[in-house]
Amino acid sequence: MNEIIIEYKKIKNIYIRVKADLNIYVTAPKRVSKKYIYEIVESRKDWIEERKENIKKKNSYDISKKELINGDKIYYLGKCYELNILKSKKENIIINEHIINMYVNIKEDEKFIDANIKKKYKLLETWYKKEALKLFNTLLKKYCLIMSLEIKGFTVKKLKSKWGSCDILKKHITLNLELMKYPIIVSEYIVIHELAHLIEANHSKKFYEIIKKYMPEYKKVKKILNSFFNDL
Ligand SMILES: [Zn+2]
Repeated sequence: MNEIIIEYKKIKNIYIRVKADLNIYVTAPKRVSKKYIYEIVESRKDWIEERKENIKKKNSYDISKKELINGDKIYYLGKCYELNILKSKKENIIINEHIINMYVNIKEDEKFIDANIKKKYKLLETWYKKEALKLFNTLLKKYCLIMSLEIKGFTVKKLKSKWGSCDILKKHITLNLELMKYPIIVSEYIVIHELAHLIEANHSKKFYEIIKKYMPEYKKVKKILNSFFNDL
């Protein structure tokens, strides 16, 4: 059982939250007894378990929360790979059927533990980025040709709240690096979506008609994007 952390405030109702550390945070009015709070928490047990499961799932695919050790799950283009760390002076990442072999120049000594973690992250991020540039270059070329459009350039980076964006005036497209964890069809959809903004700026009915023309099943793909990690 996780901890229940109670905070008393000048409020009228009791609020229960499950945070990323998997503890239960309760905010309650001053007059409420601890015993009553525990009863309320008990009565919300199913909901709390569900929240915890969701958080655990989220943590398991968010690589930034991991130490990156042998056996860790790494997602790449919709497939789950097992991480295999190999000590090597020459750094590289080589992927095979189920395994991502990471050749990394780490030092055994305990005192290098943080530096080693940083090194592994950097290597993985650089690899994702390199593969992303190749993939999006191909996809953008393909769909520019199909849609008879032209762009001046594109950027791939980690975006917090969107999958991509299109600067219509500069004809520049930005894509979220996180897309590399999803099936390729999702990246295709985002590429078509951003390119379609060069024809129609807003998310109007006309806009989605353009998308439908190039990806008739786009609604299904949008669903994959929103639920991929929840459905695993
Ligand atoms: Zn849009």
